[in-house]
Amino acid sequence: MAKYVYSFGKDGTDGDATMRNLLGGKGANLAEMAKIGLPVPSGFTITTEVCTYFYANGRQYPPELVAQVNEAMAAIEKTMGKKFGDTKDLPLLVSCRSGARDSMPGMMDTVLNIGLNDKTVEVLAKKSGDERFAWDCYRRFVQMYGDVVLDMKPKTKTDEDPFEELLHKMKEKVGVTEDADLKPEHLKELVKQFKAAVKKQTGHDFPEDPMEQVWGGIGAVFGSWMNDRAMVYRRMNGIPHDWGTAVNVQAMVFGNMGDTCATGVALTRNGATGEKGITGDYLINAQGEDVVAGIRMPKRIEDSLHKEMPKCWEQFKAVAMRLENHYKDIQDIEFTIENQNLWMLQTRNAKRTGFAHVRAAVDMVNEGLITPDMAIARIPANDLTQLLQPVFSGAGLKGKTPLAKGINAGPGAATGQIYYQPDEAEAAWQKDNNARIILVRKETTPEDLRGMKVAKGILTSSGGAASHAALVSRQMGKACVCGCDAISIDYKAETMTVKGKVYKKGDWISVDGFSGNVYEGEVPTSASEVLQVLFDKSLKPADAPIYQCFHQLMSWADRFRKLGVRANADNPKESEQAIALGAQGIGLTRTEHMFFDHIDDFRAMILSETVEAREKALEPLLKYQQADFEGIFRAMAGRPVTIRLLDPPLHEFVPHTEKDQADLATKLGIPKETVARRVNELHEFNPMLGHRGCRLGIVYPEITRMQATAICQAAVQVIKEGIDVHPEIMVPLAGNVAEFRHQEKVIRDAAAKVFGEAGVTSDYLVGTMIELPRACVTADKIAEAAEFFSFGTNDLTQTGLGISRDDYGTYINEYQELDIFPADPFQTLDQEGVGALMKIAVEKGKSTRSDVKLGICGEHGGDPASVKFCHKIGLDYVSCSPLRLPVARLAAAQAAIQEKKDKAAAKKATDSCGCKCCCCCCCKG
Ligand code: ADP
Ligand code: MG
Ligand code: MG
Repeated sequence: MAKYVYSFGKDGTDGDATMRNLLGGKGANLAEMAKIGLPVPSGFTITTEVCTYFYANGRQYPPELVAQVNEAMAAIEKTMGKKFGDTKDLPLLVSCRSGARDSMPGMMDTVLNIGLNDKTVEVLAKKSGDERFAWDCYRRFVQMYGDVVLDMKPKTKTDEDPFEELLHKMKEKVGVTEDADLKPEHLKELVKQFKAAVKKQTGHDFPEDPMEQVWGGIGAVFGSWMNDRAMVYRRMNGIPHDWGTAVNVQAMVFGNMGDTCATGVALTRNGATGEKGITGDYLINAQGEDVVAGIRMPKRIEDSLHKEMPKCWEQFKAVAMRLENHYKDIQDIEFTIENQNLWMLQTRNAKRTGFAHVRAAVDMVNEGLITPDMAIARIPANDLTQLLQPVFSGAGLKGKTPLAKGINAGPGAATGQIYYQPDEAEAAWQKDNNARIILVRKETTPEDLRGMKVAKGILTSSGGAASHAALVSRQMGKACVCGCDAISIDYKAETMTVKGKVYKKGDWISVDGFSGNVYEGEVPTSASEVLQVLFDKSLKPADAPIYQCFHQLMSWADRFRKLGVRANADNPKESEQAIALGAQGIGLTRTEHMFFDHIDDFRAMILSETVEAREKALEPLLKYQQADFEGIFRAMAGRPVTIRLLDPPLHEFVPHTEKDQADLATKLGIPKETVARRVNELHEFNPMLGHRGCRLGIVYPEITRMQATAICQAAVQVIKEGIDVHPEIMVPLAGNVAEFRHQEKVIRDAAAKVFGEAGVTSDYLVGTMIELPRACVTADKIAEAAEFFSFGTNDLTQTGLGISRDDYGTYINEYQELDIFPADPFQTLDQEGVGALMKIAVEKGKSTRSDVKLGICGEHGGDPASVKFCHKIGLDYVSCSPLRLPVARLAAAQAAIQEKKDKAAAKKATDSCGCKCCCCCCCKG
């Protein structure tokens, strides 16, 4: 017979901490605590399988459940020496608590004091000798049960909780402000009023039968798994809906039986900073939820528990340390003290900031509590970005309420003056390099890059987490809040309006890219400690404890990881920063970014109508490019540098208004009709599939020739300076080996010419960016010519899924809401689809060139799940924006550690049965 119910307590415990899938986190840890001999009120856990059954069978339970629950209830009675529903002696009361596999704080429901009714409350009063306590429990119970089980909880923020309303009126009538000051007669009256309210709203009497109450609680907890906020929480945190919750039924212990009682929550180390030492809140004479409910101001455990309850404090400290040592992680503990006796009600690994994660993990390794691989495995790689971002100081935020909230797209905090026009922003910056600017746009385009570059922060009113603004600001390491639809922007008037208030150009605002909050006025920021050490060197490592922990963790990660990490960097400064953050090379240099600094020369080139004119226009560009490449090669000091040939939609570079076109025509000395006509010719109906990538270099081979020449001349120059150079020239968007071969020939001819003339040769590779499904499925042919592949997963996602990054914002939310997309495919790789294409490309590529070099340079190169996938399919490196490098290094180490573990587990499984399968199923059968 299936076992659906697992008991725990001092007389025997069925489960343990390893069983969280079945028992949920709370149930598994209650069992574990009971097992290692800690004081846990007895109880039992109904498994998550029952939850699954419940939803698969029209909210029915498996038939065996009733008997198993009854048996487990009897076991609690025996251990606690009390009877449930007893009308003669002190009755047993129980709580009914939710508990999913991963804790979902506050998302699901709990009912306390089950088992009270008009008879048992009298016995409780008499036998406990505390009438007030008994009626306080009963009052709480009817309220919680009404809210949770009978669904009387207010549905909207403006609805009143009927019970709170009655409670409030009663306190007013009696003339007290604290719940605790109500006398038994007031509580009795309240219970009567509560029950009347139940009858009125539900049409039924409040259930008096204790077992009926238990089943009501169980049903409510299972039901709360599918409530709206739990669903939203799971979507946000990537928790599958089919995991289900467990239900814990547990004997009540009482923190509200007078001044020798208390209840509290505590962390074994600080959850914000990771510093060692217990921190937490407690209340004397209170029950569980009071501490977090904000009804009374709790006291700090570390300040006063040792004075108020010295014996319990010592005992609690010992238990807390024991739990931390046992779980080898920061514990978040709920406890209750009943008449000076300590009871443990919950423990779990504490939620914490990235700062606390790093600090605690490194400390624990140094304390000998965990090993470096454990430290690496437990830190969510994304959290590392927190350590790099400029911060709003806690004091600076005091008293500020956000003006509006958008998508927290580029982590960081920035304060500055509003600019609506990128060129004005740039002009302001040129006047004063210390100008603090927030660029506010409806959305950004590549034309805005220069304005973005000088801005401290970027705020857009539309566009999602993968919009241009978000992508570029992440690469630039700038604070960005996008899609902030509460602001409306009027470019003409140069104003934005938020909640009726108008903000002009030059007004000060602050954007917090961590939270997505936008504030009015100036909020002071400072560079993160880590970057003060690594970038501006304004801080010595010895004076930077956060940096030290970070550095220690990174050096461990580098020891474990097998994947290489490179950066996407477009200039020497970014290259230097990349090296400081651990880059082993550059995986993507986008040459079009360089052209933005010489836009008029570039426009002259685009507008040229003959090959001769174009070659002439390319001449000054060659010089600029060569200088740019030299700078990067010097900065990279012998590390490989992948340079992508020109790949922009050309129409983005040309002016679109009549006035701008006329200005350009004057500048270039050509008729303005010519400019207008060329702009018209360059217009693309679908830029994503337009005259892009190698198509440009194939139609205008002189551009490719110029770029290859610039790269090779730069290499020659830098080699002459005694610095090693390894350029990897990348042809973008080839879907066909013939396209690649065409470009390869132009490149190799140019290289031969440069090296021949210079008498100096550099090694170099020619490869391609894999961005089209056709390239993946013909990768064997392409690899016959291409020496390396770099997956351009942004475009591969666009072309593989047939969606455009520029307008998917209009439906992506719906898609995620409906669970059609588990995540935003531009943020985390669609492994099933795009990932499968990559796998095909890897296999086919290796089949014709076994040593084909494999990397990824899309945004996904800095996304932890995607990095792990890249490890799995055998890429050589991932490349991402410099500030994502620590994330990539950590994720790569995690992938290597996980792989080792999986291999060991598979080996163990094979060894144990001696056959070659890895699952043992054949031997068991
Ligand atoms: P949550 O998951 O929201 O924290 P819990 O199930 O942990 O919900 O319960 C809420 C509060 O009730 C906690 O403070 C807990 O300590 C308290 N509580 C739960 N069960 C009992 C019990 N059997 N005896 C005393 N207090 C309890
Ligand atoms: Mg809890
Ligand atoms: Mg592309």
